[in-house]
This record gives sequence, structure tokens and C-alpha cells, in this order.
Amino acid sequence: MRGGLSRLKLAGMNRILDLKQEPRPAFGTVLAPTMTVARFQNGEWGRSEARPCGPIELHPAAHVLHYASTCFEGFKAYRWADGSINVFRMDRHIERMRQSARALVLPEPDPRQLEEMIRTTIDRNRDAVPEAPGALYMRPMLFGTTPNIGAAGAAATEASLIVLASPVWDYFAGGMKPLRIYIEDVNARTATQTGKVKTGGNYAAALGPTLEARRKYKVDQVLFCPGGSVQETGASNFLLLRDGRVLTRSLDSTFLHGVTRDSVLTLAREEGYRVEERLFDVAEMLEWVRDGEATLSGTAAVLAGVGTLVFHGQDHRVGSGEVGPHTRKLRERLVSIQRGESSDTHGWTKRV
Ligand SMILES: *Cc1c(COP(=O)(O)O)cnc(C)c1O
Repeated sequence: MRGGLSRLKLAGMNRILDLKQEPRPAFGTVLAPTMTVARFQNGEWGRSEARPCGPIELHPAAHVLHYASTCFEGFKAYRWADGSINVFRMDRHIERMRQSARALVLPEPDPRQLEEMIRTTIDRNRDAVPEAPGALYMRPMLFGTTPNIGAAGAAATEASLIVLASPVWDYFAGGMKPLRIYIEDVNARTATQTGKVKTGGNYAAALGPTLEARRKYKVDQVLFCPGGSVQETGASNFLLLRDGRVLTRSLDSTFLHGVTRDSVLTLAREEGYRVEERLFDVAEMLEWVRDGEATLSGTAAVLAGVGTLVFHGQDHRVGSGEVGPHTRKLRERLVSIQRGESSDTHGWTKRV
């Protein structure tokens, strides 16, 4: 069925969402009606079940509420023109969730069970998958539930795994507006050892500095460059582009290893760009952007071009100040695979 239903009863809310309504709801504010849930107890994962998306019971002594034992994932399922629904690089996201769980000493989700939960969640919410350029954003989450407020130094032995889904619309509905980015060259986004873990505490840590920079410099995001070494923003990786070249930080434990980053680098190599993955500093970046491009990468926006970098209170225009041709071209290449408009030679998409 193409386009699904145009009207949909929303999870836990007493209103009907019109999938065609304008303006579109903001990213993440609308949840699909069904979630899937599994619990870890007595050393093993129990059966997962689908249920209406809504409040859950949690003991106030739950490990996660005190010691932030939680991680999550984010990726998208797309409705293709033939009506089929296809999810992008699900295996990578499942693997990253397991890595996050290990880093936080949380029970590791079983990859087959998690894939099954993701498939069930998409299947039960088929009508809530918007047409392109919208998508169903998938949000698996894992958190420690052991009721023990004396467990700061002990791993959670009980946990919950929940897969939420949220219909999302084009990130660039208002046009591809170039971003304004503040360069933080002293403080880090997170502790070095948890930089590559998709865990709640990292976002809590970046929030204060980000809101302060927004207020002071009217920026959209903060690019963290601790000690002057360029890293990433609060929720996206960072790439520099120009004719025939791409430059981005090499993988290490200090930042999130984005699936979008990996996909874009793969496509860039195929398009003949020389891809450099290495450390670089703010000075080299400012030199690059005099006539090059800078872009953020992540599931939500794919690639979002930067128009201005604010450094030590001074604006530095990036190239022409508009979203550049390399950002547009690589974005288009990736999006056309995600939407089934060009052939997927890497086996990145899976039909659900
Ligand atoms: C999720 C995330 C990204 C982007 O990862 P993708 O897999 O490309 O969506 C980048 N940085 C941070 C801090 C993130 O949380």
C-alpha cells in the first residue's frame, strides 16, 4: 500500500496525526503507536513483546536513574516508491549498540533478538512510515533497571531493551540552510573513553556549553576541538570537503563512529575523492574553509553544510557561505541509495 494511511492514531496521545499535515511536526516529537520491549533478568533475555507505545514502570531506585547506565541507537527505515519498506545499515547499528552496552557494562542485546524487535516494530507501524523524503526513525534503547541506590560501583544485573519508532520528515523542509557553528577549542564533549559510546550522559555533558554558545553567538551547534584538535559536534560527525579531497578525524575512542560518516567516506572514495582520515587542528580547518566546504554528518540530516565558523568571537565564512556542491553531491548519492532510487551495491539496505 503506497503512502500508508494518511491519518494515524498516535501513541499515548489522544489525537489523530494527519501524515500530510503542514507544517510537519519537529523531529522526534511524534511516536509511532507500537513499541517492542524485552527484559534482562536472572542472567538472560526474556521474550520480547510488542505493546502500545506509552509510559513504562520503573523503580525510582533503578540503576539508570542514578548512574546513567543507558545507551541508544538511531537509524531510519524508508518507504520506497514501490511501496516496500527498507532499513539502512541495520547490522552496523545493532553492532554499535552492542559495543555501547559492553562499554557501559550493561547486558548485551542478542543481535538476532534485537533485529527481530526492530523488524517487528517497523512491521507493526507500517502505516506510520512517511513517504520520501520522510522516514521512520528507529530508536532502540537499553538501560539498567536494578533497584539499588548503592550500586555506583556495580553493574546493573537487570535491564530493559525497548525499540521505539518515530515518523520523521525532511530535515531540510525549510531548504538547506547553511549552519553556523561555534568552535570550542578547550573543553571536550565527553570523557575520552566514552566518546564513541552513544550514551545519555554525553549529551547531558554537551548541553550546557551548547546552549551557552547558542545564546552568546547565535550558533546552531558547537564543534568540539579539545586542545585545538577537531573532533565532532554534540550529535554529528564533522567532515571537510573540496575538489577531489575529503578530510575527517581518524577513528579513536574520543568521538562517535557514525554510520553516515562511514557511508559518505565509502561513496566519496568511489566518486574519486582522496579521503584522508587523520588528526587536524583548528588552524588547518580555518585554512581549508577559505575556499573549501565543511559539513556535519549523521542519520537525521545526512550531510548538513556549514556556512560560518565562529572562533574566538570572530566569524569565519566557509567558502561562499552557502551549502557547497560537494556536500550536495555526496548527500544526493547517499540519499538516492537510502530511498531505493539508485542501486545499492554495498548491501546497505534491507527489506522489512
Ligand atoms: C549518533 C551520532 C552521530 C552520527 O552517527 P550516525 O550513525 O551517522 O547517525 C555522530 N556523533 C554523535 C555524538 C552521535 O550521537
